[in-house]
Amino acid sequence: MEETLISDGLFINGVTTPAQSGDTKIITNPANGTAIASVAQASAVDVDAAVSAALDAFGAWTALSFSERQQHLKRLAKGIEAAETDFAQLETRNVGRPLRESTDEVHLAISYLEYFSSIKDADLERSYLNSANGETTLLRMPYGVCAIITPWNYPLTSAVKELAPALLAGNTVVLKPSQWTPLSTILLAKVAIESGLPPGVINVITGTGITAGASLVRHQHVPRIAFVGSTTVGKDIMRMSADELKDITLALGGKSASILCHDADLDKALPAVAGNILKNCGQDYFARGRLLVQQSIYEEVAERLVTIFRSQVIGDPMNTNTTLGPMISRAHCKRIQKYVELGGSEGADLLYGGIQPENEAAQNGAFMQPALFGDVHPGMYIAKEEIFGPVLCLMEFDSIDQAVKIANSGIYGLGATIWSEDANRANQIARTLHVGVIAINSATARYPDVSFSRVKHSGTGKESGIEALHQYTLLKSISH
Ligand code: NAD
Repeated sequence: MEETLISDGLFINGVTTPAQSGDTKIITNPANGTAIASVAQASAVDVDAAVSAALDAFGAWTALSFSERQQHLKRLAKGIEAAETDFAQLETRNVGRPLRESTDEVHLAISYLEYFSSIKDADLERSYLNSANGETTLLRMPYGVCAIITPWNYPLTSAVKELAPALLAGNTVVLKPSQWTPLSTILLAKVAIESGLPPGVINVITGTGITAGASLVRHQHVPRIAFVGSTTVGKDIMRMSADELKDITLALGGKSASILCHDADLDKALPAVAGNILKNCGQDYFARGRLLVQQSIYEEVAERLVTIFRSQVIGDPMNTNTTLGPMISRAHCKRIQKYVELGGSEGADLLYGGIQPENEAAQNGAFMQPALFGDVHPGMYIAKEEIFGPVLCLMEFDSIDQAVKIANSGIYGLGATIWSEDANRANQIARTLHVGVIAINSATARYPDVSFSRVKHSGTGKESGIEALHQYTLLKSISH
C-alpha cells in the first residue's frame, strides 16, 4: 500500500511547532510496517511552553459562561463529524484497527462531546441555608491547567472522554498521547482550532512517557492529572504526584469476565462474546478476556466459539471485509504469543489459534490468529493478567456462587457481563460483582452519560456523566 508521510509537530497555542531539540520519531503502520509519519518528540522545555500556553489561555476560557463553553464543544463535535473519514482512516493506519471499528470510535468520541455540550443541570453553583441557619453558596471552580495522558489503543476516545468534561468545567489542557499513536490527537487539536476554540485551550505534547509525560506530571503549574494507561505506569504517576499532592485520576487496565449461565441465549451471546475479545484485536481495556461458562453448556460453547474464531478474516484493516487487523506492533504480537505458550505450559487447553497466520499480509504486519483456551483455572497467569490481545480463556463453573467468586478474584475491577434469560438471576449476580461497569445480555455497556468508578487496580476516580464533570472541579463554599 502507498503511504503518504505526514510530518507533524507539537501543537502549542494553536500552532504546529517542532520540538526545540529537533528530535522526531517515525511512526509506522502496523499492517505493513511502512513509515506513515514523522512526529516531533518533546522534552521538558517544550512541555513548559505548552503549559505556559494553557495557563495564558485559562483566564479568558474560564471567564466564558458554561453555555458558551458548551457551544464550543458542540462546534468541536461538528468539526470531528465533518472530518470523520480522516479521523477513522488515520486511526486505522496508526493503530491497525479495522476501519469499521475506527469509525465507531469516532462516533463514540462525538457522543461524549454531544453529551457534555447538552448537560442542563450541571450543579456548578448552589445556595442554601446551612446548619447554623446562615447562607452558603457552594461553587465548583476549575483547577487551571489539566494534563491528560493517553495510551495507544484508543487514542481519540481516551483523549475526548477526559477532554470534554475538563474543558466544560473551565480548565485548559495539555494532552500527551502515546508515542506510538499520536496522530489522531494532533488532528483533534487542529480541528478544535478550525472549529473556533481559542488557541492555548488545547495543547498537544508528543513524545515518550519517560521524558514528555514525566515532565508534564511533575510540572508545577499542572495541579490535575488524568492518566489513561497501564496499571504499572499509573502507580508510577501516583508516586510522582505525591510530593506536590496533585489531584489525579487513573483509568487503568482490566481483566474483565463474562458469566454465561445455562439459560443464556447462545445465538445472541456467543457472537457478542467473540466480537468483544476480537475488537481492536483484544487490545481493549474493557475486553472480557475470561468467559465463565456453566458446566451443562460448556462443551457446546467451546465448539461454537472455535467455529467463530476460525471464521475471522485477518488482513488489511482498510478492507471492509477484514474482521481482525494487526496488533500494534510485532513486539506486542510476540508478547501475546508468549502468553499463549505460557497458557499451554500451565495446563490450559489451546482449542484454537495463537500463531501467526500464513497469508501474505501476515509476513509484513503484526498479525496473529486469535487464541481460544479451554480448561483455564483461576490461579493460572493467563486467567489473572491483562493479556491485551485476542486471547479468550474459558473457565467452567458449577454454581452461581462459584462463578461470582471467580469473577471477583484478581486485582482488577473494570467491567463484567452477565448472560442469562432470567432477569432476576442476572440482577442478583450484578449486585455481587466488584466492578464499575456491568452489562446484562450485551458485550459491553459504555455510555457518555452513565458514570462509574474504576475499581481495585483498574484505577481511581470516576468516568463519564456528571461525575466526570465534577471531577474536574474544586469545591469552594462561601458562607454568611
Ligand atoms: P502505558 O501506561 O504504557 O502508557 C500510557 C501513556 O503514559 C502513554 O502516553 C505513555 O507515553 C505515558 N507514560 C509512560 N510512562 C510514563 C511516565 N513515567 N510518566 C508519564 N507518562 C508516562 O499504556 P499503553 O501501553 O499505552 O496502553 C495500554 C494500557 O492502557 C492497558 O493496560 C489498557 O488496559 C490501558 N487502558 C485503559 C483505559 C481506561 O480507560 N481504563 C483505556 C485505554 C487503555
